[in-house]
Amino acid sequence: MNSHTTNMECKYCKILEKENFGDLLLETRHWIVFLAPNQSLIGTCVLALNRHLENLSGLELEEWQDFAFLVKRMEHTLKGAFNATMFNWGCLMNASYLKNPPEPHLHWHLIPRYNHEVKLNGLTFEDVYFGHMKPQPIKNISLQTRKIISDKIRENL
Ligand SMILES: [Zn+2]
Repeated sequence: MNSHTTNMECKYCKILEKENFGDLLLETRHWIVFLAPNQSLIGTCVLALNRHLENLSGLELEEWQDFAFLVKRMEHTLKGAFNATMFNWGCLMNASYLKNPPEPHLHWHLIPRYNHEVKLNGLTFEDVYFGHMKPQPIKNISLQTRKIISDKIRENL
C-alpha cells in the first residue's frame, strides 16, 4: 500500500487496505487488478485506481500512461488464458450512485467477449449475447473454479 489517500467507507479503498485481498491478480504503480465477482463472461476483471478518486477527469498523466500499459497487458493475458475474441472496457460506476451519499471510486470493468465456448473445470462458459451489450445470465461458480480462473490469468500475465 502506498501513501495515497483512502476513504474507509469505500469498498475499493478497503481492498487497497488489504481487508479483502482474495481475488487480487496484479498491482501496478497506480492500479490494482482483481477478478470480478461475476464470471458469466470468464476472465472479467476490475481495474481500480490505487487512490480514492471519483472521476476520470481527475486522472494524472502518469496514471493514464500506467493504464495504457495495463490495457495492452490485460488484453494479451486474457487472449492467452481463454482466447478472448475482443474486449469491452467500461468506466461506469452507476452502482456507486445508488448510495446516498454516492461514493464513487474510479475503476474500469474489463469484460472479455467470446465468439466461442470456453470449457473450464467441467463447466461451459458461453457469451450468449456476443455482439451486444446486454447482461449475461448469472452463473454461480464454486470457489475452486474462481481459483482456477485466477490462476490461469496469473500464468498468462
Ligand atoms: Zn475509494
